Amino acid sequence: MPADYTFLTVEEVPHYVAAHPALASRLDADHVASVEEVGDGNLNLVFIAKDVSGRGLVLKQALPYVRMTGEGWPMTPERSRFEVQSLTTYHALVPDLVVEVFHYDEKRHIFAMADLSDHLVWRTALNLGQTHEGAAAAIGRFIGAVAFGTSHFALERRAYADAQASAINPELCKITEDLVFTEPSVDAGRNSVLPANEPDAAALAADDTFVDAMGWAKHLFMTAGEALIHGDLHTGSVMVRAPRGSSVADSVKVIDSEFAFYGPVAFDIGATWANYVLAAARAYAQGDDARAEWELGLVDETWRAFEAEYRRRWPQRLDARVWRDATLERLIATWREQSWLFAAAKMSRRIVGAAKVKDVETLPENLREGAARGVLAAARRAVRVHEDSSAVAFSRTCGEELLRHRTAG
Ligand code: ADP
Ligand code: MG
Repeated sequence: MPADYTFLTVEEVPHYVAAHPALASRLDADHVASVEEVGDGNLNLVFIAKDVSGRGLVLKQALPYVRMTGEGWPMTPERSRFEVQSLTTYHALVPDLVVEVFHYDEKRHIFAMADLSDHLVWRTALNLGQTHEGAAAAIGRFIGAVAFGTSHFALERRAYADAQASAINPELCKITEDLVFTEPSVDAGRNSVLPANEPDAAALAADDTFVDAMGWAKHLFMTAGEALIHGDLHTGSVMVRAPRGSSVADSVKVIDSEFAFYGPVAFDIGATWANYVLAAARAYAQGDDARAEWELGLVDETWRAFEAEYRRRWPQRLDARVWRDATLERLIATWREQSWLFAAAKMSRRIVGAAKVKDVETLPENLREGAARGVLAAARRAVRVHEDSSAVAFSRTCGEELLRHRTAG
C-alpha cells in the first residue's frame, strides 16, 4: 500500500465536502443527514451523502488494491483517472445516459458524481424480476454514440491521438486479458465451479475451437483501438429507474468505467449480450420461461439501438471521400460477428472465473448446476457461428442451450 494513501471514511465525508467548493454548492456540509458506504463492487469505496434538505452526492475512491481479494492484489488507485476521463467524455456525448462527474481529486483518487440512489443497479433489478423497458435500447444508443464519437471518424487527428494517449490503461486491461480471455480455459488458480460442473469446465478448457477463439478475441482486445470503450459494461455498470407502478425506464445511467481504454467496439456490445444471457439463465432455472425470453430479447434491442445510433452519426464522419457507405456496412457486419465472440468470453468467465455474478451464483445448487452448464454450452456454440451472425440468432442459440441443460428444480 502506498505510504501516503489515506482512506476516505464516513466521518470524513462532510469535512471533505465542505473543503471543496465545487461540492459544497451541491450538498449542505453543515447539515449532513447521513453518510453511507455502499460499495458492492470488486474494487472501490463508494459513499452516498445526503443533507437534511434531501440533496445527495456520491464520492468514489479507488483503493490501492482489488477489494474483492483484500490487500493481496495491489492495483494502482490512479485508475480513477480513467474513470473520470471516460465518464466526462461519455457525458459530453450522451448526457442523458451517463452519470455526471462534478469533481476529481487526483491526489486522493476521489471523485464526486451525481447521486443515483433513486435508481437500482440494473443487475439487481433484473434479479428482482423487474422490467425496465427501454434500458437495453438506451445502452445500445450509448455504445453507438461512444463508438462513433470517440473514434477517428469523429475526432480530428490530433485530438484523436491525445484521446488515445490519455486512455492507455494497461493495468486494468491486463485484468480483462487474464480473467476474461485466458483464465476461463487456463486456470490460474482463481477458478471455481460446483463439483457437478467440473466436467463442464474441463470440457470448455479442452475445446480447441473455443480456446483458439479466445486467443483471437484477446488479440482483438489488445490491438483494435477503435473507440474509447467502457470495458466493463455489464448490467452491474448500469443504473435504472422507473416511475412507481411503471415498467418503463425513465432514467438509465452508465457508471463505473475505470476499465475504459481504446479498444474494440464489439467488446462493450458482447458484454451486454453475455449479461442478458446470464439473466436469462437465472429465469429459466427458476422456471420463468417468459421472463427468460424477454431477457434474451434484450440482445436484439441493444444491437438495434446501437446500430441505429451509429448510422445516425455516420453522416458526420470526417473523410466521406473514402469512408463511404461500404465502410459503414463492413463495420456493422464486423462488429455484429465480433459481438458473438466477446459475449462468449464474457459468459464463460462469469461461470468458471474469479468474479461471478449474482444472477447464477444465488441460485440453489441443484438449479445452478444446469444454469452454469447451459451458459458454458452457449459460449462454446457462440464461437462456432460464422454465418447468420444476427443478434436474434445469438439469443436463439443461447436460449436453446440454456433450455437443453436446465436442471429440474
Ligand atoms: P466498483 O468500481 O467498485 O465496481 P461501482 O462504480 O460499480 O464500483 O459502484 C459500486 C456500487 O455503488 C454500485 O453497484 C451502486 O450500488 C453504488 N453506486 C455507484 N455509483 C453510484 C451513484 N452515482 N449513485 C448511487 N449509487 C451508486
Ligand atoms: Mg461495479
